Amino acid sequence: MPETLTVQAEIAAELDEDRFSRLRLIPWWDQAKIQSAKVLVVGAGALGNEVLKNLALLGFLKIVVVDLDFIETSNLSRSVLFRASDVGLSKAAAIARGYNDLLPEATVRPMVANVMQDCGLGLFAWADIILAGLDNREARLWINRAAWKVNRPWIDGAIEGINGVARVFLPGEPPCYECTLGETDWAILNRRMSCNLLLHEANPQGRTPTTPTISSIIGGIEAQEAVKALHGLPTLAGKGYVFEGLHHTSYVTQYTENPDCMSHDTLERVIELPVRSSEITLEELAARGRKDLAADQVVVEFSRDVIHKLVCPRCGEEEVVFAPVGAIDRARGQCPACSAATSEPQIRIVRTLTGYNGEPELASRTLDGLGLPLFDIFTVRSAESELGYCIAGDAVDVLGKLAPKIEVAV
Ligand SMILES: [Zn+2]
Ligand SMILES: [Zn+2]
Repeated sequence: MPETLTVQAEIAAELDEDRFSRLRLIPWWDQAKIQSAKVLVVGAGALGNEVLKNLALLGFLKIVVVDLDFIETSNLSRSVLFRASDVGLSKAAAIARGYNDLLPEATVRPMVANVMQDCGLGLFAWADIILAGLDNREARLWINRAAWKVNRPWIDGAIEGINGVARVFLPGEPPCYECTLGETDWAILNRRMSCNLLLHEANPQGRTPTTPTISSIIGGIEAQEAVKALHGLPTLAGKGYVFEGLHHTSYVTQYTENPDCMSHDTLERVIELPVRSSEITLEELAARGRKDLAADQVVVEFSRDVIHKLVCPRCGEEEVVFAPVGAIDRARGQCPACSAATSEPQIRIVRTLTGYNGEPELASRTLDGLGLPLFDIFTVRSAESELGYCIAGDAVDVLGKLAPKIEVAV
Protein backbone atom coordinates (compact mmCIF):
# COMPACT_ATOMS: atom_id res chain seq x y z
CA MET A 1 0.00 0.00 0.00
CA PRO A 2 1.44 3.47 -0.90
CA GLU A 3 2.38 5.54 2.14
CA THR A 4 -0.36 8.18 1.64
CA LEU A 5 -3.07 5.48 1.53
CA THR A 6 -1.72 3.85 4.69
CA VAL A 7 -1.89 7.21 6.46
CA GLN A 8 -5.43 7.75 5.19
CA ALA A 9 -6.51 4.33 6.49
CA GLU A 10 -4.98 5.09 9.91
CA ILE A 11 -6.77 8.44 10.10
CA ALA A 12 -10.04 6.78 9.09
CA ALA A 13 -9.69 4.23 11.87
CA GLU A 14 -8.97 6.98 14.43
CA LEU A 15 -12.04 8.93 13.31
CA ASP A 16 -14.29 5.85 13.58
CA GLU A 17 -14.84 5.95 9.85
CA ASP A 18 -16.62 3.09 8.22
CA ARG A 19 -18.89 2.62 5.27
CA PHE A 20 -21.78 4.48 6.92
CA SER A 21 -19.87 7.18 8.81
CA ARG A 22 -21.05 10.03 6.53
CA LEU A 23 -24.67 8.96 6.95
CA ARG A 24 -24.26 9.03 10.75
CA LEU A 25 -23.26 12.72 10.55
CA ILE A 26 -26.93 13.48 9.86
CA PRO A 27 -28.16 14.40 13.37
CA TRP A 28 -31.25 12.17 13.49
CA TRP A 29 -29.67 9.24 11.60
CA ASP A 30 -29.77 5.85 13.32
CA GLN A 31 -27.93 3.18 11.34
CA ALA A 32 -29.17 0.52 13.79
CA LYS A 33 -32.79 1.29 12.80
CA ILE A 34 -31.87 0.76 9.16
CA GLN A 35 -29.92 -2.43 9.83
CA SER A 36 -32.73 -4.04 11.80
CA ALA A 37 -35.56 -3.01 9.44
CA LYS A 38 -37.27 -5.77 7.49
CA VAL A 39 -38.19 -4.56 4.02
CA LEU A 40 -40.48 -6.10 1.43
CA VAL A 41 -39.87 -4.78 -2.08
CA VAL A 42 -42.50 -5.69 -4.66
CA GLY A 43 -41.32 -5.27 -8.24
CA ALA A 44 -37.78 -5.64 -9.56
CA GLY A 45 -38.19 -3.52 -12.69
CA ALA A 46 -36.95 0.01 -13.35
CA LEU A 47 -38.23 1.39 -10.03
CA GLY A 48 -37.35 -1.71 -8.02
CA ASN A 49 -33.76 -1.47 -9.25
CA GLU A 50 -33.43 2.13 -8.08
CA VAL A 51 -35.21 1.48 -4.79
CA LEU A 52 -33.00 -1.53 -4.02
CA LYS A 53 -29.80 0.20 -5.15
CA ASN A 54 -30.58 2.93 -2.61
CA LEU A 55 -31.52 0.47 0.14
CA ALA A 56 -28.20 -1.35 -0.39
CA LEU A 57 -26.16 1.87 -0.27
CA LEU A 58 -28.04 2.92 2.88
CA GLY A 59 -27.19 -0.37 4.58
CA PHE A 60 -30.54 -2.22 4.79
CA LEU A 61 -29.76 -5.84 5.69
CA LYS A 62 -33.07 -7.73 5.56
CA ILE A 63 -34.82 -7.71 2.21
CA VAL A 64 -37.43 -9.82 0.47
CA VAL A 65 -37.90 -8.96 -3.21
CA VAL A 66 -40.87 -10.24 -5.20
CA ASP A 67 -41.12 -10.27 -9.00
CA LEU A 68 -42.61 -12.74 -11.45
CA ASP A 69 -40.70 -11.69 -14.56
CA PHE A 70 -37.50 -12.69 -16.31
CA ILE A 71 -34.95 -10.25 -17.68
CA GLU A 72 -35.16 -9.13 -21.28
CA THR A 73 -32.53 -7.09 -23.13
CA SER A 74 -34.82 -4.04 -23.10
CA ASN A 75 -34.72 -4.02 -19.26
CA LEU A 76 -31.00 -3.28 -19.26
CA SER A 77 -31.43 0.43 -20.09
CA ARG A 78 -33.24 1.03 -16.77
CA SER A 79 -31.86 -1.51 -14.32
CA VAL A 80 -28.67 -0.59 -12.51
CA LEU A 81 -28.41 -3.91 -10.65
CA PHE A 82 -28.72 -6.11 -13.77
CA ARG A 83 -25.84 -7.08 -16.06
CA ALA A 84 -25.99 -7.94 -19.77
CA SER A 85 -25.22 -11.55 -18.83
CA ASP A 86 -28.42 -11.64 -16.71
CA VAL A 87 -30.78 -11.73 -19.71
CA GLY A 88 -33.06 -14.75 -19.24
CA LEU A 89 -32.61 -14.92 -15.46
CA SER A 90 -35.41 -14.08 -13.03
CA LYS A 91 -35.45 -10.40 -12.08
CA ALA A 92 -35.79 -11.32 -8.40
CA ALA A 93 -32.70 -13.55 -8.36
CA ALA A 94 -30.57 -11.16 -10.44
CA ILE A 95 -31.51 -8.16 -8.32
CA ALA A 96 -30.72 -10.09 -5.12
CA ARG A 97 -27.27 -10.86 -6.51
CA GLY A 98 -26.82 -7.21 -7.54
CA TYR A 99 -27.82 -6.13 -4.03
CA ASN A 100 -25.27 -8.43 -2.44
CA ASP A 101 -22.59 -7.13 -4.81
CA LEU A 102 -23.16 -3.72 -3.23
CA LEU A 103 -23.71 -4.98 0.32
CA PRO A 104 -22.39 -8.52 0.87
CA GLU A 105 -23.53 -8.73 4.51
CA ALA A 106 -27.22 -8.29 3.59
CA THR A 107 -29.66 -11.20 3.42
CA VAL A 108 -31.83 -10.85 0.34
CA ARG A 109 -34.56 -13.39 -0.31
CA PRO A 110 -35.73 -13.43 -3.94
CA MET A 111 -39.25 -14.67 -4.66
CA VAL A 112 -40.24 -15.39 -8.27
CA ALA A 113 -43.91 -14.83 -7.54
CA ASN A 114 -47.08 -12.96 -8.40
CA VAL A 115 -47.78 -10.78 -5.37
CA MET A 116 -51.57 -11.16 -5.70
CA GLN A 117 -51.58 -14.96 -5.95
CA ASP A 118 -48.40 -16.23 -4.35
CA CYS A 119 -47.61 -14.00 -1.37
CA GLY A 120 -49.27 -14.80 1.95
CA LEU A 121 -50.30 -12.03 4.32
CA GLY A 122 -47.69 -13.37 6.74
CA LEU A 123 -45.03 -11.95 4.40
CA PHE A 124 -46.61 -8.50 4.66
CA ALA A 125 -46.84 -8.85 8.45
CA TRP A 126 -43.15 -9.90 8.58
CA ALA A 127 -42.11 -6.62 6.95
CA ASP A 128 -41.68 -3.36 8.84
CA ILE A 129 -42.25 -1.46 5.62
CA ILE A 130 -43.25 -2.29 2.06
CA LEU A 131 -41.93 -0.55 -1.05
CA ALA A 132 -43.49 -1.05 -4.45
CA GLY A 133 -42.19 -0.52 -7.95
CA LEU A 134 -45.10 -1.72 -10.06
CA ASP A 135 -46.69 -0.92 -13.38
CA ASN A 136 -50.30 -1.83 -12.67
CA ARG A 137 -53.19 -0.80 -10.47
CA GLU A 138 -54.37 -4.34 -9.64
CA ALA A 139 -51.18 -5.20 -7.79
CA ARG A 140 -51.14 -1.81 -6.03
CA LEU A 141 -54.72 -2.30 -4.89
CA TRP A 142 -53.88 -5.75 -3.57
CA ILE A 143 -50.80 -4.49 -1.71
CA ASN A 144 -52.85 -1.65 -0.27
CA ARG A 145 -55.48 -4.02 1.14
CA ALA A 146 -52.85 -6.45 2.43
CA ALA A 147 -50.83 -3.66 4.07
CA TRP A 148 -53.95 -2.30 5.78
CA LYS A 149 -54.99 -5.76 6.92
CA VAL A 150 -51.71 -6.30 8.80
CA ASN A 151 -51.06 -2.62 9.62
CA ARG A 152 -47.84 -1.98 7.71
CA PRO A 153 -46.85 1.26 5.94
CA TRP A 154 -46.27 1.07 2.21
CA ILE A 155 -44.64 3.34 -0.30
CA ASP A 156 -45.69 3.46 -3.93
CA GLY A 157 -43.97 4.81 -7.01
CA ALA A 158 -45.26 5.21 -10.54
CA ILE A 159 -43.42 6.43 -13.62
CA GLU A 160 -44.25 7.13 -17.24
CA GLY A 161 -42.05 8.88 -19.78
CA ILE A 162 -40.01 11.40 -17.79
CA ASN A 163 -42.77 11.99 -15.21
CA GLY A 164 -43.54 10.22 -11.97
CA VAL A 165 -45.16 10.19 -8.54
CA ALA A 166 -44.14 8.81 -5.15
CA ARG A 167 -46.56 8.40 -2.26
CA VAL A 168 -46.80 6.96 1.22
CA PHE A 169 -49.78 5.17 2.74
CA LEU A 170 -50.13 4.48 6.45
CA PRO A 171 -52.80 1.98 7.54
CA GLY A 172 -55.23 3.49 10.01
CA GLU A 173 -54.57 6.94 8.57
CA PRO A 174 -56.61 7.38 5.39
CA PRO A 175 -56.52 8.39 2.59
CA CYS A 176 -55.09 5.14 1.27
CA TYR A 177 -54.20 4.09 -2.26
CA GLU A 178 -57.75 2.92 -3.00
CA CYS A 179 -59.09 6.31 -1.88
CA THR A 180 -57.02 7.93 -4.66
CA LEU A 181 -58.64 5.85 -7.43
CA GLY A 182 -60.98 7.71 -9.75
CA GLU A 183 -63.46 6.55 -12.38
CA THR A 184 -60.78 6.03 -15.04
CA ASP A 185 -58.71 3.88 -12.67
CA TRP A 186 -61.71 1.69 -11.83
CA ALA A 187 -62.59 1.36 -15.53
CA ILE A 188 -59.03 0.09 -16.22
CA LEU A 189 -59.14 -2.21 -13.17
CA ASN A 190 -62.49 -3.71 -14.15
CA ARG A 191 -61.41 -4.24 -17.75
CA ARG A 192 -58.50 -6.37 -16.46
CA MET A 193 -60.85 -9.00 -15.06
CA SER A 194 -63.14 -10.81 -17.47
CA CYS A 195 -66.75 -11.27 -16.37
CA ASN A 196 -66.20 -14.85 -15.21
CA LEU A 197 -62.78 -14.35 -13.55
CA LEU A 198 -60.72 -16.14 -16.17
CA LEU A 199 -57.41 -14.58 -17.04
CA HIS A 200 -57.16 -12.23 -20.00
CA GLU A 201 -54.24 -13.35 -22.12
CA ALA A 202 -53.39 -10.07 -23.79
CA ASN A 203 -51.64 -8.00 -21.17
CA PRO A 204 -50.30 -4.74 -22.56
CA GLN A 205 -48.64 -3.88 -19.24
CA GLY A 206 -44.92 -3.92 -18.77
CA ARG A 207 -44.37 -1.85 -21.89
CA THR A 208 -44.81 1.58 -20.34
CA PRO A 209 -42.19 3.96 -21.74
CA THR A 210 -39.84 4.98 -18.93
CA THR A 211 -36.29 6.20 -18.49
CA PRO A 212 -33.57 5.36 -15.96
CA THR A 213 -33.53 9.05 -15.01
CA ILE A 214 -37.16 9.22 -13.85
CA SER A 215 -36.92 5.85 -12.07
CA SER A 216 -33.85 7.22 -10.28
CA ILE A 217 -35.77 10.32 -9.13
CA ILE A 218 -38.91 8.49 -7.97
CA GLY A 219 -37.01 5.45 -6.60
CA GLY A 220 -34.84 7.90 -4.65
CA ILE A 221 -37.88 9.56 -3.08
CA GLU A 222 -39.35 6.15 -2.21
CA ALA A 223 -36.19 4.98 -0.43
CA GLN A 224 -35.80 8.31 1.38
CA GLU A 225 -39.42 8.20 2.55
CA ALA A 226 -38.77 4.68 3.90
CA VAL A 227 -35.81 5.97 5.91
CA LYS A 228 -37.89 8.85 7.28
CA ALA A 229 -40.83 6.59 8.14
CA LEU A 230 -38.54 4.19 10.05
CA HIS A 231 -37.12 7.15 12.00
CA GLY A 232 -40.60 8.45 12.88
CA LEU A 233 -40.11 11.60 10.80
CA PRO A 234 -42.88 13.28 8.79
CA THR A 235 -43.50 11.57 5.43
CA LEU A 236 -45.69 11.91 2.37
CA ALA A 237 -48.43 9.97 4.24
CA GLY A 238 -51.69 10.34 2.34
CA LYS A 239 -49.93 12.62 -0.13
CA GLY A 240 -48.16 12.30 -3.46
CA TYR A 241 -44.94 13.91 -4.66
CA VAL A 242 -45.54 14.60 -8.33
CA PHE A 243 -42.56 15.26 -10.61
CA GLU A 244 -43.11 16.52 -14.15
CA GLY A 245 -39.84 16.21 -16.02
CA LEU A 246 -40.33 18.45 -19.05
CA HIS A 247 -40.40 21.71 -17.09
CA HIS A 248 -39.13 20.39 -13.75
CA THR A 249 -42.38 21.21 -12.07
CA SER A 250 -42.87 19.30 -8.87
CA TYR A 251 -45.50 19.60 -6.19
CA VAL A 252 -47.06 17.67 -3.33
CA THR A 253 -50.71 16.78 -3.71
CA GLN A 254 -52.97 15.91 -0.78
CA TYR A 255 -55.39 13.06 -1.47
CA THR A 256 -58.86 12.93 0.06
CA GLU A 257 -60.39 10.06 1.98
CA ASN A 258 -63.16 8.09 0.32
CA PRO A 259 -65.67 7.22 3.08
CA ASP A 260 -66.85 4.20 1.04
CA CYS A 261 -63.31 2.83 0.54
CA MET A 262 -63.12 -0.96 0.85
CA SER A 263 -59.47 -1.06 1.96
CA HIS A 264 -59.81 0.33 5.50
CA ASP A 265 -59.82 -2.99 7.30
CA THR A 266 -57.12 -3.80 9.87
CA LEU A 267 -56.94 -6.97 11.98
CA GLU A 268 -56.86 -6.03 15.65
CA ARG A 269 -55.07 -9.21 16.62
CA VAL A 270 -53.07 -11.85 14.77
CA ILE A 271 -52.05 -15.12 16.46
CA GLU A 272 -49.07 -16.97 15.03
CA LEU A 273 -49.77 -20.69 14.76
CA PRO A 274 -46.51 -22.67 14.68
CA VAL A 275 -47.89 -25.16 12.17
CA ARG A 276 -47.48 -25.60 8.45
CA SER A 277 -50.41 -25.21 6.03
CA SER A 278 -50.08 -28.91 5.30
CA GLU A 279 -50.60 -29.79 8.99
CA ILE A 280 -53.94 -28.13 9.77
CA THR A 281 -57.39 -28.53 8.23
CA LEU A 282 -60.08 -25.89 7.82
CA GLU A 283 -62.19 -27.54 10.53
CA GLU A 284 -59.24 -27.67 12.95
CA LEU A 285 -58.63 -23.95 12.34
CA ALA A 286 -62.33 -23.21 12.86
CA ALA A 287 -62.24 -25.21 16.12
CA ARG A 288 -59.27 -23.19 17.32
CA GLY A 289 -61.18 -20.03 16.46
CA ARG A 290 -64.29 -21.16 18.34
CA LYS A 291 -62.15 -21.79 21.40
CA ASP A 292 -60.22 -18.50 21.26
CA LEU A 293 -63.32 -16.43 20.51
CA ALA A 294 -65.48 -18.43 22.96
CA ALA A 295 -68.10 -18.75 20.21
CA ASP A 296 -70.28 -21.65 19.03
CA GLN A 297 -70.22 -20.55 15.43
CA VAL A 298 -67.42 -19.03 13.39
CA VAL A 299 -66.60 -18.38 9.75
CA VAL A 300 -63.07 -18.76 8.39
CA GLU A 301 -62.35 -16.04 5.84
CA PHE A 302 -59.61 -16.42 3.24
CA SER A 303 -57.11 -13.67 2.46
CA ARG A 304 -58.40 -13.65 -1.13
CA ASP A 305 -61.00 -15.49 -3.20
CA VAL A 306 -59.98 -18.82 -4.69
CA ILE A 307 -61.41 -20.68 -7.67
CA HIS A 308 -63.24 -23.69 -6.23
CA LYS A 309 -64.93 -25.24 -9.27
CA LEU A 310 -65.37 -24.91 -13.00
CA VAL A 311 -68.97 -25.73 -13.92
CA CYS A 312 -70.15 -26.34 -17.47
CA PRO A 313 -73.49 -24.62 -18.17
CA ARG A 314 -74.15 -27.00 -21.08
CA CYS A 315 -73.48 -30.50 -19.67
CA GLY A 316 -73.43 -29.63 -15.97
CA GLU A 317 -70.03 -31.30 -15.42
CA GLU A 318 -68.12 -29.91 -12.43
CA GLU A 319 -64.36 -29.84 -12.00
CA VAL A 320 -62.92 -29.13 -8.56
CA VAL A 321 -59.76 -27.05 -8.94
CA PHE A 322 -58.78 -24.96 -5.85
CA ALA A 323 -56.62 -22.43 -7.71
CA PRO A 324 -55.84 -18.77 -7.21
CA VAL A 325 -58.11 -16.33 -9.04
CA GLY A 326 -56.19 -15.29 -12.15
CA ALA A 327 -54.35 -18.60 -12.43
CA ILE A 328 -56.79 -20.20 -14.87
CA ASP A 329 -56.65 -19.05 -18.49
CA ARG A 330 -59.51 -19.21 -20.98
CA ALA A 331 -58.22 -22.37 -22.66
CA ARG A 332 -58.23 -24.22 -19.32
CA GLY A 333 -61.65 -22.69 -18.58
CA GLN A 334 -63.29 -24.56 -21.48
CA CYS A 335 -65.34 -27.72 -20.96
CA PRO A 336 -63.22 -30.40 -22.71
CA ALA A 337 -66.21 -32.66 -23.53
CA CYS A 338 -68.54 -29.98 -24.86
CA SER A 339 -65.81 -28.08 -26.72
CA ALA A 340 -64.80 -31.31 -28.47
CA ALA A 341 -68.41 -32.33 -29.21
CA THR A 342 -69.52 -28.98 -30.66
CA SER A 343 -66.12 -27.74 -31.93
CA GLU A 344 -67.10 -24.43 -30.30
CA PRO A 345 -65.23 -23.32 -27.17
CA GLN A 346 -67.64 -23.87 -24.27
CA ILE A 347 -66.43 -21.64 -21.42
CA ARG A 348 -67.27 -22.93 -17.97
CA ILE A 349 -68.63 -20.87 -15.09
CA VAL A 350 -66.12 -20.12 -12.33
CA ARG A 351 -67.30 -20.77 -8.78
CA THR A 352 -65.19 -19.01 -6.16
CA LEU A 353 -64.81 -19.52 -2.44
CA THR A 354 -64.29 -16.67 0.02
CA GLY A 355 -64.03 -18.84 3.12
CA TYR A 356 -65.23 -21.82 5.13
CA ASN A 357 -68.55 -21.96 6.91
CA GLY A 358 -68.66 -25.58 8.04
CA GLU A 359 -69.25 -27.14 4.60
CA PRO A 360 -68.58 -30.91 5.00
CA GLU A 361 -66.80 -31.15 1.63
CA LEU A 362 -64.22 -28.59 2.83
CA ALA A 363 -63.85 -29.57 6.49
CA SER A 364 -60.95 -32.00 6.22
CA ARG A 365 -59.05 -30.07 3.54
CA THR A 366 -55.65 -28.89 4.73
CA LEU A 367 -54.83 -25.21 4.24
CA ASP A 368 -52.18 -25.94 1.61
CA GLY A 369 -54.85 -27.49 -0.62
CA LEU A 370 -56.94 -24.37 -1.12
CA GLY A 371 -55.02 -22.54 -3.85
CA LEU A 372 -53.86 -19.97 -1.28
CA PRO A 373 -50.20 -19.07 -0.75
CA LEU A 374 -48.05 -20.37 2.08
CA PHE A 375 -47.52 -18.19 5.18
CA ASP A 376 -50.99 -16.71 4.83
CA ILE A 377 -53.33 -15.24 7.44
CA PHE A 378 -56.87 -16.56 7.92
CA THR A 379 -59.50 -14.43 9.64
CA VAL A 380 -61.82 -16.31 11.96
CA ARG A 381 -64.96 -14.33 12.69
CA SER A 382 -67.77 -14.83 15.19
CA ALA A 383 -70.88 -12.66 15.53
CA GLU A 384 -69.02 -10.41 17.98
CA SER A 385 -65.37 -10.41 17.08
CA GLU A 386 -62.56 -11.58 14.81
CA LEU A 387 -59.04 -12.97 15.08
CA GLY A 388 -56.29 -13.43 12.51
CA TYR A 389 -54.29 -16.66 12.41
CA CYS A 390 -50.92 -16.55 10.70
CA ILE A 391 -49.74 -19.98 9.53
CA ALA A 392 -46.25 -19.28 10.83
CA GLY A 393 -44.90 -22.80 10.35
CA ASP A 394 -44.63 -21.90 6.65
CA ALA A 395 -42.33 -18.94 7.39
CA VAL A 396 -39.11 -20.87 6.92
CA ASP A 397 -40.25 -22.11 3.48
CA VAL A 398 -41.06 -18.58 2.38
CA LEU A 399 -38.40 -16.51 4.14
CA GLY A 400 -35.48 -18.90 4.48
CA LYS A 401 -32.81 -17.35 6.71
CA LEU A 402 -35.03 -14.31 7.28
CA ALA A 403 -37.69 -16.41 9.04
CA PRO A 404 -38.25 -15.33 12.64
CA LYS A 405 -38.09 -17.77 15.51
CA ILE A 406 -41.58 -18.88 16.45
CA GLU A 407 -42.30 -18.69 20.16
CA VAL A 408 -46.09 -18.95 20.40
CA ALA A 409 -47.36 -22.40 21.39
CA VAL A 410 -50.66 -23.84 20.17
ZN1 LIG B 1 -58.99 4.12 1.35
ZN1 LIG C 1 -69.77 -29.35 -20.79
